[in-house]
Amino acid sequence: MDNNALAELLFPDSILTRDDIEARYPERSLPEGACVTRIGPSPTGFVHLGNLYNAIIAERIAHQSGGVFYLRIEDTDNKREVEGAVETLINAMSYFGVNFDEGATADGDNGSYGPYRQRQRREIYHVFAKWLVAQGLAYPCFLTAEEIDSIREQQTANKENPGIYGKYAEANRSLTLEQIQQNIAAGKEWVLRYKGTDTDEYITVADAIRGKLEMPRNNMDFVLLKSDGIPTYHFAHVIDDHLMRSTHVIRGEEWISSLPMHVELFSVLGWQQPIYCHTATLMKLEDGGKRKLSKRKDPELALSYYQQEGICPDAVWEFLLTVLNSNFEEWRIEDPDADYREFPYSIEKMSISGALVDMDKLRDISKNVICRMPAKQVFDGWLAWCGEYDPDFAALINKYPERTLAALNVGRGGAKPRKDIETWKQACDFMSFYYDETFTVSDEMPPECDEETRSRFFEKYIESYDHSDDSAAWFDKVKAITDELGFAVKPKDYKKNPDQFKGSIVHITNMLRIALTGHANAPDIWEVSHVLGEKITRNRLEAWTSENQSKL
Ligand code: GLU
Repeated sequence: MDNNALAELLFPDSILTRDDIEARYPERSLPEGACVTRIGPSPTGFVHLGNLYNAIIAERIAHQSGGVFYLRIEDTDNKREVEGAVETLINAMSYFGVNFDEGATADGDNGSYGPYRQRQRREIYHVFAKWLVAQGLAYPCFLTAEEIDSIREQQTANKENPGIYGKYAEANRSLTLEQIQQNIAAGKEWVLRYKGTDTDEYITVADAIRGKLEMPRNNMDFVLLKSDGIPTYHFAHVIDDHLMRSTHVIRGEEWISSLPMHVELFSVLGWQQPIYCHTATLMKLEDGGKRKLSKRKDPELALSYYQQEGICPDAVWEFLLTVLNSNFEEWRIEDPDADYREFPYSIEKMSISGALVDMDKLRDISKNVICRMPAKQVFDGWLAWCGEYDPDFAALINKYPERTLAALNVGRGGAKPRKDIETWKQACDFMSFYYDETFTVSDEMPPECDEETRSRFFEKYIESYDHSDDSAAWFDKVKAITDELGFAVKPKDYKKNPDQFKGSIVHITNMLRIALTGHANAPDIWEVSHVLGEKITRNRLEAWTSENQSKL
């Protein structure tokens, strides 16, 4: 077979050489040790947590080393592609604060190692495909889907490895140039296959997360180009990560089984392999065991879930860093106010058993993240979320911006800030008592405070209420009324002699808190009154006087 003639027959329009292409993608001039990483998501319309998980690792490795982090759109599977999916992906990454130095953007490509969308790189793949054919390392295969099915059936029956290799590849490997010409002239579809070696050798690959991986060398005639001339993931990965000069390939562990094909291609093309980092699959705990997160069963696998639930991006980052590096939590305790980007992320500290996605843990982290934010940042993040997911609440915030900001400041700062807000969605519930439009009394009054106690307390309280009292003066008045009504001012006195009192000051303040906020569990009463202002405070308490209670 004249391999050069075959290469010309298959790729008549491909006139560039390997050197021409290499010249477009020179070595990057970066400082020693700088890493070049990427994410290569496929635009399927579904952006999952694993995309962000891998993006965080790749971003940290690149930026901690002074390197480059880029976005490549792997759109070679047009059957799975969904309209608008690239925009969805770019928006999700930007919402979660993943910053690329180069790659695909909403307004086209940014950077000089593009195009960054694989479908636009056809000409490049064809140059290398043509070269492989000219070397006798690749050939056109005319097997139809039915023929491949029947080969698979035969292999299953014989308990042989599935795939096209050895004797199953023979018919197409041994076609003459004339036969190939005739097939093409007859309009028969073909794919380009790599000519695998019949071997029982083993290869070893040093995975940065998993250590040494040992596996059989590739012996398959795997597909390089599909019948429409678009490359498979395997071929595109090798060409792109070489030309774009990726130093590390961070991807899910489901790709480990394809490594022999990738190693083979890097080797025959004479290129240095990147450092592979195969990340653990995301898992969840269920019925005492771990299982893979499933797209069908687990809404938390979709990145959009975190947006809809109003879980702020910083919390998701901190949560994923906790999953990624076991020492992150310790680091965070030592320095609660540091930016998480200061954490020295290390690939060696990653676990290879499944990464556990625990939503309770995420909510807990989120509370801690939000309680450390300045009130204005909480205000902006929450308002932006409401603007998209709860416009009625956004309107309330916009109607009372000063009150909202003051409310968000209650219990903020100091060594033990309040942790009332978990997510932007839950903030709408928690904050609802600050607005008459959404205020409701949802908790029951303590049973110790019967109707008569309530009316007597609130009548006296309203009478003596002076909005300009400081917190100490205010509390002295509450204590005096507590005493007058036969309740213990000191809870421990009540504990010792419960028969001598109707209840304690704890019951009285709970009653007051419920009247003012609707909840027994709410921030400081005096502070809340000052956020609400005198008029609203008095109105809410007046509802409990004898005259009003009797109308209930
Ligand atoms: N397109 C592949 C995927 O979506 C990316 C794997 C890689 O990063 O190499 O799974």
